[in-house]
Amino acid sequence: MEDALHAGEGWRRFIDRDEPGDIVIGATQGAGCFGAAYEFLFNTSYQLKKAGLKDKVKLTYVSAEPFLGHFGIGGLPHGESLLGMFLKKEKIDAVLDTAMDHVDEGRLVLADGRTLDFGYAMIIPPFSGQEVVRKVETISDDNGFVKVRDTYQSEAYDDLYAVGVAAAVEVPWTTATPVGIPKTGFPSEQQAHTAAVNIAAQIRGEEPAAHKAFGDIPAVCVMDAGNNGVVILADKMLPPRKHGVLIPGPHAHAMKLGFEKYFLWKMKHGQVRLP
Ligand SMILES: Cc1cc2nc3c(=O)[nH]c(=O)nc-3n(C[C@H](O)[C@H](O)[C@H](O)COP(=O)(O)OP(=O)(O)OC[C@H]3O[C@@H](n4cnc5c(N)ncnc54)[C@H](O)[C@@H]3O)c2cc1C
Repeated sequence: MEDALHAGEGWRRFIDRDEPGDIVIGATQGAGCFGAAYEFLFNTSYQLKKAGLKDKVKLTYVSAEPFLGHFGIGGLPHGESLLGMFLKKEKIDAVLDTAMDHVDEGRLVLADGRTLDFGYAMIIPPFSGQEVVRKVETISDDNGFVKVRDTYQSEAYDDLYAVGVAAAVEVPWTTATPVGIPKTGFPSEQQAHTAAVNIAAQIRGEEPAAHKAFGDIPAVCVMDAGNNGVVILADKMLPPRKHGVLIPGPHAHAMKLGFEKYFLWKMKHGQVRLP
């Protein structure tokens, strides 16, 4: 099955060229959605094989992550070696711990002056806050995200809430190249549930009593990889953790397809109480 990201015009034009050129997939300094970058990378590798171009096109992964499989959450046990194995098997080069300066027509220019030419590229930028939030200094951090407590009330006002991408999360480490936090679907939903419980309590005249810090939300993620994938599970998004596991295999690809269909059905039918 062809995934939606590789069904577009740009991809068609690329694979139909006589000399398609190389491919660069990357995530900039400050980006947080590394899972999406890895998905796109491995899906691209799979689509290159399907198009009979795998030996003709060099695929390079460029990332701010200090090591493979950091994912913006500090990495998980055996993650680096697993991702390393995936890259080796797919003959993908990696340029890590690197900042990007800019993208020219057909060329990625890194902060240290190195360049990577491409015929096709996809670069993940950092999450960016809203201008309307940035203008309100009492609620906004430097990036236009709302500074929140673990009740998802804003730090400044009891009756103003923010969750998901809009909520600021403090990065608990420093890396040579800045790496953001993955504000993905599962934590966004968990934050929204916490906020909803607290809003209902406030309406009833009670104190908001539900607390769930971003770092304490479990990590539950399925990374697609063509006809393969990895299930990512951990007791907490951010370290220190007690458990963390990566389970690779084709079942992960099937799970991702199944979940996508289930999630879209759930949302279309307003079944928000379902898990
Ligand atoms: C390429 C990519 C792949 C991803 N893959 C995964 C994945 O596999 N699994 C996963 O869990 N997560 C994934 N994510 C992350 C996931 O999409 C986000 O975590 C999730 O959408 C965050 O939800 P949200 O409600 O905070 O923000 P959003 O989904 O961005 O919703 C914000 C909404 O607010 C609207 N809006 C914005 N500004 C205004 C305004 N001024 N006025 C009114 N409305 C406004 C927007 O139009 C939008 O509808 C991926 C993200 C990307 C970019």
